[in-house]
Amino acid sequence: MGSKVLITGATGFIATHIIDLLIKSGYEVIGTVRTDEKGENITNLFGKDQFKYEIVKDLGDAKQDYLNIFTKHPEIEVVIHTASPVFYTDKIKELIVDPAVEGTRNILETIKEKGSKVHTFVYTSSIGAVLTLIPGLAPEGDKDESSWNLTTWEYVKHHVLLSYMYAKAQAERLIWKFDEEVPNVKVVSINPGYVFGPQVFNESVKSTLNSSNEVINTVLRDGEKYTKTTGHWIDVRDVAKAHLYAIEKENTKSERLILLEGTFTEQSIIDIINKDFPQLKGKISTGVPGSDAEHWKGKPLLKNEKTREILGFEFIPLEKSVKDTVQQLLDNKIYS
Ligand code: NAP
Repeated sequence: MGSKVLITGATGFIATHIIDLLIKSGYEVIGTVRTDEKGENITNLFGKDQFKYEIVKDLGDAKQDYLNIFTKHPEIEVVIHTASPVFYTDKIKELIVDPAVEGTRNILETIKEKGSKVHTFVYTSSIGAVLTLIPGLAPEGDKDESSWNLTTWEYVKHHVLLSYMYAKAQAERLIWKFDEEVPNVKVVSINPGYVFGPQVFNESVKSTLNSSNEVINTVLRDGEKYTKTTGHWIDVRDVAKAHLYAIEKENTKSERLILLEGTFTEQSIIDIINKDFPQLKGKISTGVPGSDAEHWKGKPLLKNEKTREILGFEFIPLEKSVKDTVQQLLDNKIYS
C-alpha cells in the first residue's frame, strides 16, 4: 500500500477524479464529506477497502473535526485540500469567503499541530487566484504563474461575482505563508481554469452539473439562451493527474501549477457538439459557426509554459473533453 492521503471535499467533481487516480496508483484514501449519507454513498462507489470517509460538516468551523481526524489517523502523510464553495450567493462572507479562507487555515493549523507525518500538502486553487478582473488594479498584459489576483475586500463585499476568485486568492496566500513557516512539508498549488470533462461515476450524472461543466450543459439544455461564456479551460482528468504529479514529482515543490489547455468560447463548444453529435442537430443552438475565431485575438492571455515544462505531459484537447462530457450525458439519458 502507498501513503495514506487525506482529501477534503471528497464528493466534489474534481475530488472524485483525484481519488479514483490515487486508488488506482495504490494510495490509501480518506475523504472528508459533510454527512454520513454522502459518505456511505461515495464509499459504496469506490469500495470500502479502498476508501474511508470522515465528517467535516462546515469548512469554516472545521478545526475540531480535522483534529479528530488526525487523532484517529496519525499516519496521514499527504493532504489534498479541494473543498471550497464553488457557487455564488449574496452571503459573501459567511458562505463564500469564510469556508474558503478559514477552511484552509483550519487544515493548515491542524497539520502544524497534529500532522507530524505529513510531508506533502496540495491545494486545489484556481486561476481565480491569479487573474484580477478589475481594470487598472493589476499590471496590463499577459499573466503567468507569478501573477496574483489583487482584488481587495472593499471591491468584493459589493460584488458577488468577484467573491469566489477573491476567496481563492486569500486562501492560497495562506498556503504560501505555511510553506515558509513549515519547510519540511512540500507545498504545491494547482490552479485550474474552467474544468470540463466527464464524471467518474454515472451516478453523478445529473441534469444540473457542477458550475464549470454547466457551460457545456447549458448549450444542450437551453438552446439559444446559452450564456456566451469564454475563458481558459482544462480537462478534469488532467487536473487529477496534476495532483498525482504534485505528490510524486520532486520538481513540483513550492510551485504554482496553472492548468489550462487553452482558451474557449461557447461558440467553439457549440461547433464541436454540432460536428460530433449530428443526432442533436436542430435540438441545440448553432450560433454562428466559426464566428469566435477572432475572439481572443489581441486579448491578454494566461500563459503556463512553466507549468507545462514541470508536468511534462500533453493536456487533453477541447474536442475530446467536450465529446466525452456530452457522450456521458447522452448515455445516461439526460438528453436524447
Ligand atoms: P464541487 O464539485 O462543487 O466540489 C466542492 C466540494 O467542496 C464538495 O465536496 C462540497 O461538499 C465541498 N464543500 C463546499 N463548501 C463546503 C463547506 N462550506 N463545508 C464543507 N464542504 C464544503 O467543486 P469542484 O468543481 O470539484 O471544485 C473543487 C475545487 O477545485 C474547489 O476548491 C474549486 O475552487 C477548485 N476549482 C474548480 C474549478 C472548476 O471549474 N470546477 C476551476 C478551478 C478551481 P458537498 O458536495 O457536500 O456540497
